[in-house]
Amino acid sequence: MPFDNLIAGEWIAGPQRGQNRNPSDTADLIGEYAQADAAQLDAAVAAAQAAFPAWSTGSIQARSDALDRIGAEILARREELGVLLAREEGKTRPEAIGEVTRSGQIFKFFAGECLRLSGETLPSVRTGVGVDITREPMGVVGLITPWNFPIAIPAWKIAPALAFGNCVVFKPADLVPGSAWTLAEIIHRSGIPSGVFNLVMGRGSVIGDPLVQHPGIAALSFTGSVEVGRRIALQCAERGAKVQLEMGGKNPQVVLDDADLAQAVELCVQSAFFSTGQRCTASSRLIVTEGIHDRFVAAMRERMAGLRVGDALHAGTDVGPAASEAQLAQDLRYIDIAREEGATLAAGGGAAQCHSGSGKTGFFVTPTLLTDTTPAMRINREEVFGPVASVIRVKDYDEALAVANDTPFGLSAGIATSSLRHAVHFKRHAQSGMVMVNLPTAGVDYHVPFGGRKASSYGPREQGRYAQEFFTTVKTAYTLA
Ligand code: NAD
Repeated sequence: MPFDNLIAGEWIAGPQRGQNRNPSDTADLIGEYAQADAAQLDAAVAAAQAAFPAWSTGSIQARSDALDRIGAEILARREELGVLLAREEGKTRPEAIGEVTRSGQIFKFFAGECLRLSGETLPSVRTGVGVDITREPMGVVGLITPWNFPIAIPAWKIAPALAFGNCVVFKPADLVPGSAWTLAEIIHRSGIPSGVFNLVMGRGSVIGDPLVQHPGIAALSFTGSVEVGRRIALQCAERGAKVQLEMGGKNPQVVLDDADLAQAVELCVQSAFFSTGQRCTASSRLIVTEGIHDRFVAAMRERMAGLRVGDALHAGTDVGPAASEAQLAQDLRYIDIAREEGATLAAGGGAAQCHSGSGKTGFFVTPTLLTDTTPAMRINREEVFGPVASVIRVKDYDEALAVANDTPFGLSAGIATSSLRHAVHFKRHAQSGMVMVNLPTAGVDYHVPFGGRKASSYGPREQGRYAQEFFTTVKTAYTLA
């Protein structure tokens, strides 16, 4: 079956095809997916522009119904889509089904949100004049997504874009086109008019760059690396396009002496190693006060020894493979860098040999814990994006907070403590967009804002009611009656 681009309501082959392979088992070819070129990108933007006048002024009931149908189909097919996602990205089957479920819930949430877009009416300072403040769609929006959440991140951009009356040109990560294509196919059959939603697959350098620079794109929402995001921000600023960036993290998890040790270990293992550590909200710096440090490290080692690394689709696998050979190489490189900087390898530390269905191995790495690290080391400053966590020993809460904030990033920050005073202080003073008390730094709700500070994010928040800040523009109308 051909997996083509969706442009103006038609499935169109690209000039080239790219292979989508299973990182648990490199002999498993999931499919060959079209790769668009710049001409197809132009056609997708033109289709979206042509569809915009009718879509943006059409019935919000029709929009809501379509989003609800999309959400319902995703939820009904969660097992099948979860298997596809686990097969192409490498997170475990239960994690993948969880991601698919969240995607369905997001579409259902925005089916309601498009009926609730409200404005304001104020009296004017001039007698006889009224002022209305309303929100209107931006126009054609470009959406660029990374490989680590192949359906949830597309969902949390596409659903609000459509709900508020925008037309969409969507470019997924070229490593994981399978979930994106299936989502596009579901959207295509939902009753949304041709051209309102377009899918162009391919490499960032080939079609991502022209999408960002296209004069027909009024707003660009990107999730991915800091390096690419910063360039996109400059390009958008140059031509006056609205831009929203969600980028990397180096999220701290503070563990205080008064923490429940078993709970602290569980939430650190969860957020540092599950999903192979490939989450922007993963905990990678475990900042531990000296009274609990040795007991914490010992308990972590014991818990990590029981983690099963293996094929993402096998029952009982706790940690799947890295998503690609390049990501595996990066994980191993950072473990070497940390050891050269003086860190002690407390657990894990290398590639794992796990044989999959075909007998070929994938890109497996053992969950790794590094101790005796300091805040200045590269392992504590740069994002690894793998199942690698480092422990920083600190004297007390004040030092823990200072170390937690000593980072260029600011996405999510966690604290494990039984002290109300420290929990409340940390919630107020952690320099991050999201704060977790006795919960993993990864794992968020779909109906509330998501995003960070400093190098982690730029522009308005995503998700929940706050999504309207990016996907709409405000109009102030004065009327003399
Ligand atoms: P990436 O920056 O390499 O790629 C992201 C997307 O940008 C892909 O679709 C890619 O094809 C595209 N792209 C690449 N070059 C481009 C260019 N020149 N112009 C336009 N588009 C281009 O990131 P990745 O490796 O896919 O994802 C991993 C990164 O994503 C990590 O840094 C992670 O922290 C981040 N991430 C952030 C969040 C968040 O919400 N903060 C969520 C998930 C992932």
